[in-house]
Amino acid sequence: MRSLREYFNTWLLVELLRGMALTGRSLFKRKITVQYPEEKTPLSPRFRGLHALRRYLNGEERCIACKLCEAVCPAMCITIDSEECPDGTRRTTRYDIDLFKCIYCGFCEEACPTDAIVMTRHFEFHMEERNEAIIDKKGLLAHGDKLEWQIAADRAADAQYR
Ligand code: SF4
Ligand code: SF4
Repeated sequence: MRSLREYFNTWLLVELLRGMALTGRSLFKRKITVQYPEEKTPLSPRFRGLHALRRYLNGEERCIACKLCEAVCPAMCITIDSEECPDGTRRTTRYDIDLFKCIYCGFCEEACPTDAIVMTRHFEFHMEERNEAIIDKKGLLAHGDKLEWQIAADRAADAQYR
């Protein structure tokens, strides 16, 4: 019986008509296609894009070279070298992230006790050479300086959900 029904449906083009009816119904609905890059969808304050290193308001680096981020990173893409400063504090002399290895899990951000390494909303980046995949301390700090206004706003917005 079932195969007989399918046989008639095939000859009467029922599936085709159903498909055209669906197309017809969708024709006058509000369009949801986003014309990227001119149009962009909203991003969550918790979006995990390109990393940045933050500073305090007085310009001092937040990072204390504890290496928790390096230890927690499941992709082992963070490399840190550190030294002791004359005032007894510790600072990184090298902070590299291999962006090819990174899986953007956010563990480094969560592990950081000083909110130094963060993941920003910036996702429109690319590399053309293999060696460009490694972002160093200078690049991370520059990125943090550039986007501090957005990072601080995202932190404030995120705090409201907690
Ligand atoms: S986002 Fe995840 S994979 Fe990427 S550097 Fe941080 S901990 Fe490592
Ligand atoms: S970024 Fe944070 S977790 Fe990583 S070494 Fe610096 S202070 Fe420690």
